[in-house]
Amino acid sequence: MVKYIFVTGGVLSSVGKGIVTSSIGKMLQVRCFKVTVVKIDPYVNVDAGTMNPYMHGEVYVTDDGGETDLDLGWYERFLDLNLKKENNVTTGLVYKAVIEKERRGDFLGRCVQIVPHVTNEIKNRIRTVARLSDVDVVLTEVGGTVGDIEGLPFLEAIRQMRLEEGYENTLYVHVALVPILDVTKEMKTKPLQHSVNELRRIGIQPDIIVARCTKMIDSEALRKIALFGTIPETAVFCSYNVESIYQVPLILDEQGMGEFICKRLGFSERKSDFNGWKNFVDAILNPEHEVKIALVGKYAELADSYVSMNEALRHGGAACKTRISIEYIEAEKFEKNPKNVEILRDFDGIFVPYGFGPRGTEGKIMAIKFARENGIPFLGICYGFQLAVIEFARHVCDLKEANSTEINPNSPYPVIDLMPEQRGIEYKGATMRLGAHKIIIKPNTIAHVLYKSREIYERHRHRFEVNLEFLQTLKKNGLVFSGKNADGRRMEILELPDHFFFFASQFHGEFKSRPRRPDPEYYGFVKACLDKKLGKFKPEF
Ligand code: GLN
Repeated sequence: MVKYIFVTGGVLSSVGKGIVTSSIGKMLQVRCFKVTVVKIDPYVNVDAGTMNPYMHGEVYVTDDGGETDLDLGWYERFLDLNLKKENNVTTGLVYKAVIEKERRGDFLGRCVQIVPHVTNEIKNRIRTVARLSDVDVVLTEVGGTVGDIEGLPFLEAIRQMRLEEGYENTLYVHVALVPILDVTKEMKTKPLQHSVNELRRIGIQPDIIVARCTKMIDSEALRKIALFGTIPETAVFCSYNVESIYQVPLILDEQGMGEFICKRLGFSERKSDFNGWKNFVDAILNPEHEVKIALVGKYAELADSYVSMNEALRHGGAACKTRISIEYIEAEKFEKNPKNVEILRDFDGIFVPYGFGPRGTEGKIMAIKFARENGIPFLGICYGFQLAVIEFARHVCDLKEANSTEINPNSPYPVIDLMPEQRGIEYKGATMRLGAHKIIIKPNTIAHVLYKSREIYERHRHRFEVNLEFLQTLKKNGLVFSGKNADGRRMEILELPDHFFFFASQFHGEFKSRPRRPDPEYYGFVKACLDKKLGKFKPEF
């Protein structure tokens, strides 16, 4: 019998519900329970794929090509899972399915309503994940904040699930902000109390309340939260600020949350084993070295735009006891004044991430040229890979005005061009080349050293690729394509053998990076940054 844990949020969004949800999963996993997670996003988009990372953070890509909310990335990293499209449920997806059924005549004669038709669809989706995943517990995180209009059908669905699945098989966790007033330094629980009231008005009484606060809540705040939340004090926990996000499961478990959940769900007592996780956290908290990385991007203002990349760099750092300090640099800064590119000299590595559209591309190309010419370790991901090809074509192969047709459709040397199957596609939703595809690695290359395998699977999200017409010219001038797709017609990895570390991939290694299993290209980059800084002759992977 599967048990269900539902996580809701109060007071504000972005209080770290995703991290608390992942942490609950971790507390169960270290007690040998199998878990999976569903993220509910109450927006009307069918998936996150069409959303601007500026507004909503990065789009996370699953193995099966789902373009999902970035919280799925946290679940995968914390819980070492490979989730599927089905693990992300949106209002758009639910309504689309209900309306399709209505058009097909499935509800013939009946008036189709939010309750029960939409709520049934939501419950079905959660239960389908439960059925297909062979787990003990399904965690469901409801995005947004209690009180949002668009969240109502989802809250109604999870309310009904208690009736249908039984008290001992369901658990509601409410995560809400407890602000501390600047002037009096008092912890204020009133907003949290209101959000619990709002939840109760809908018919959900939380079993656990997690106070999100900058500091550990004091006994007075704890007493009030329990009293007004109508739960025992032992059911109140606090997620306070910690140096690393990966400490959150540890601090919640220390407060007894893991044990409380197991008891409440009727699980028999099992020993927890946090050892592996603690080793990783130790490596993050007690580094022996530090490297400074310049991330030259276009969504630099919102750190969430690059969250998986950040984390992959940190995973790589943990593996070589190195703290990663990342500076976000708007690529346009270099376009405004080319002298600005000189600031890159102060960094141990230059990183050019994914991207879309022309803005900032010339600045990124300038950064790549600087890395190539000055022997600074470089990693390019997706657009970063494509722009590295353009830079090489322009400045090494002398193909002036070489470009991607995404940036300049009239370039005389379109070294990056739309993939053939993308021609004629007008719909923007879920039409890119998505998800995990096989890549064959060339022997005796850096890629081979890093991946230790001739065959890998990596996740993709792109419409453009290296134009084969220019392949010979690029190769002749020294660019090595050390990873290709199965038929050899799609360039996936590039490297420059004579450079200290110049490496880029069409795929996104960050989506498969895990705390204790850093992605090879990110690890390789960080290690190269470190070894260069330590004055080594070449990187020692
Ligand atoms: N804009 C490029 C493409 O569509 C790169 C995409 C990306 O960086 N994810 O191919």
